[in-house]
Amino acid sequence: IFDVSMHDRILDRLRMENDLRRAIAQTFSLEDPQAVPELRVVYQPIISLETSKVSGFEALIRWQHPELGPISPADFIPLAEEMGLIVPIGYWVLRQACAQVHAWHERFPSDRNLTLSVNLSPRQFLQADLVEQIVKAIQETQFSVACLHLEITETTIFKNATLGADILANLRKLGIQVYIDDFGTGYSSLGYLHRFPVDGLKIDRSFVQDDDCLKSGIVQTIITLANQLKLSIVAEGVETLPQLESLRVMLHESGQVQGYFFFKPLEATEVETLLGTGLKR
Ligand code: C2E
Ligand code: CA
Ligand code: CA
Ligand code: CA
Repeated sequence: IFDVSMHDRILDRLRMENDLRRAIAQTFSLEDPQAVPELRVVYQPIISLETSKVSGFEALIRWQHPELGPISPADFIPLAEEMGLIVPIGYWVLRQACAQVHAWHERFPSDRNLTLSVNLSPRQFLQADLVEQIVKAIQETQFSVACLHLEITETTIFKNATLGADILANLRKLGIQVYIDDFGTGYSSLGYLHRFPVDGLKIDRSFVQDDDCLKSGIVQTIITLANQLKLSIVAEGVETLPQLESLRVMLHESGQVQGYFFFKPLEATEVETLLGTGLKR
């Protein structure tokens, strides 16, 4: 059945594809430093419960469409993934963010340990030259590899488990830390977890924000499992004080949290202000 709304949707999609290609071309080729790129990276602070300070940032892409305004990555990342454009976009984010956080390390020497978390999409993860490209980005930006965290969803890894484990091992050999993103929302084959060489888990915000999950022991179970496997934990999507308090009890002051309760994703200039005034919340 081909109705008018479907026709509209196809046109929308074609337009988006076209516009996304144009945004990439525009952003990657900007020579005028005054010109505003359509794509940019924002940085959401991650807070250590132990110190109550910012320990690092997650890099998140933003698209400012010239006519439509801001478009959510939840809408255009899947499109980019399908079109294969996620590969150049992903490396661009990695480079931008590594160069940016390296500059902050240099400018604020007491914050040299600030970590940078970058999302890797399924398609990017399976690129044959993934490790090579990452090494190149680290070398070119002089980013200290020990501060780099890569976030990969469990579905990405489980899709091709044997290859996935190999890639993870290669990334970790470089000194990069690997986190499973949105933990608990994918395959949830807990039995497989110990076979994958990862450093940590990010507990998905759907658990953190669901009172029943917090209270019924589901989140506690994830934390106990992570502790057992000696994995670090970041709880995502913390929006309220009660959520934070529950997590604090379960995480015993170790672990990390991220969410609007602390900070929304910040523009690079806002992070600079934050770094200039110390990192206490
Ligand atoms: P994600 O990796 O799970 O990133 C966390 C998302 O949760 C971000 O949405 C962040 O802004 C949002 N968030 C953080 N704290 C809170 C909170 O307290 N409450 C609520 N409601 N939301 C919170 P964002 O930036 O819109 O990104 C959405 C998704 O798009 C990301 O989910 C990630 O899957 C994807 N994405 C964003 N940037 C990139 C990128 O550079 N590369 C790839 N491959 N994917 C990206
Ligand atoms: Ca993420
Ligand atoms: Ca996540
Ligand atoms: Ca997500």
